[in-house]
Amino acid sequence: LIELDRAHLIHPVASYRSHEKHGVRVLASAKGATVTDASGKQLIDGFAGLWCVNAGYGHESIVEAAARQMRELPYATAYFGLGSEPAIRLASELADRAPGDLNHVYFTLGGSDAVDSTIRFIRYYWNARGRPERDQFISVEQGYHGSSTAGAGLTALPAFHAGFGLPFDWQHKIPSHYAYRNPVGEDPQAIIEASLAALKSKVEAIGPELVAAFYVEPIQGSGGVLVPPKGWVKAMREFCRAHDILFVADEVITGFGRTGPLFACSEEEVVPDFMTTAKGLTSGYVPMGAVFMADHVYETIAEGAGTTAIGHGYTYSAHPVSAAVGLEVLKLYENGLFDNGVKAGARLMQGLQSLRDHPLVGDVRGRGMLAAVELVVDKSNKTPLPASAEPARRIFDRAWENGLVIRAFGNGVLGYAPPLCCTETEIDAIVERTRITLDETLE
Ligand code: PMP
Repeated sequence: LIELDRAHLIHPVASYRSHEKHGVRVLASAKGATVTDASGKQLIDGFAGLWCVNAGYGHESIVEAAARQMRELPYATAYFGLGSEPAIRLASELADRAPGDLNHVYFTLGGSDAVDSTIRFIRYYWNARGRPERDQFISVEQGYHGSSTAGAGLTALPAFHAGFGLPFDWQHKIPSHYAYRNPVGEDPQAIIEASLAALKSKVEAIGPELVAAFYVEPIQGSGGVLVPPKGWVKAMREFCRAHDILFVADEVITGFGRTGPLFACSEEEVVPDFMTTAKGLTSGYVPMGAVFMADHVYETIAEGAGTTAIGHGYTYSAHPVSAAVGLEVLKLYENGLFDNGVKAGARLMQGLQSLRDHPLVGDVRGRGMLAAVELVVDKSNKTPLPASAEPARRIFDRAWENGLVIRAFGNGVLGYAPPLCCTETEIDAIVERTRITLDETLE
């Protein structure tokens, strides 16, 4: 398998060289929070795949829901007015639970095309309002909004821009709230004020009448699990409301219980104009994403389009099998998984905080089942690990040998996003195996 993989399967994010050197690790099966590789080695999946298998692996009821739907009706296009019962029901169940008046749901295949869809919908919205000049987009440094070309421009990670002329000239960034390395220090109020001032001056520099939308993640995920101070999301949302700028909450990672509630926006007491989700929506079993739109946005776009369909859609939008899985996953979440995630998340944070005394650990942060440990060379001056994939790869490999899958970001940040079904024993093992891995890294 490793030889065939080297010869034929492209892993786009991994460095090809490093990948060829180390070889792929082939997973064979999984149950709960445990994955088993092709050699039979069992590991705790501390990252739920790619922050997505929130419900855990091996739920027979999900498999049955998918099989039933495949037998009955495997496909129905949402493109020209056909529907399917699971897609309609899922949209309705989600709208019932979404913050405020986010009552309209557009299904995609994942997070990148959900973000991409918002860019198009936002342009349709401003066109419908007779303001096509409002075409400038702002997002946050260290943010991740997918790797479609337009979404990658909103994403603020350099590797996603190189060679593509990204970001586009209509895509702008303001600095992150990243507390551990913030020039204004870690005081929450100072960080909120700095971000507000940055957004205000960015909007003024672009021209207040030209800004279409502002994108945030309630917690920045791929940038290193950066948690904004309480009130940050709300302050930014209120600024946007006051300046008639659409506010988009990208909940692709934070949605579906990852931080505790169904959506992190609820905890922030924020109702965005758009919300994007994916990952936990179908818990990784099948691909699906969803864009939520507020009433006023939907009505404006629909009215502007009149009776002509707007030119946007995917063959696999509102896929009946994905929707059937989404409905079943939602049931599982609400029958105990969310509650377990809250308890397990508190234990995970407490456990990881206990690693603060380790010489390599500079910062520990997170909320619920979303956490990070930031490693440094020197704690006293926060010297970061060398910016190279190799140290991260070595830590990933050591953790693997110790029976733990974590995400080791290139900047020395270890990411945690375990399935919400983790037991106390599994959470304790995640922490313990991390400590052993860090001790070995020191040697
Ligand atoms: N937005 C955010 C906040 C994400 O974390 C991700 C994926 N990590 C995406 C969008 C893109 O989602 P996908 O990988 O499903 O295309």
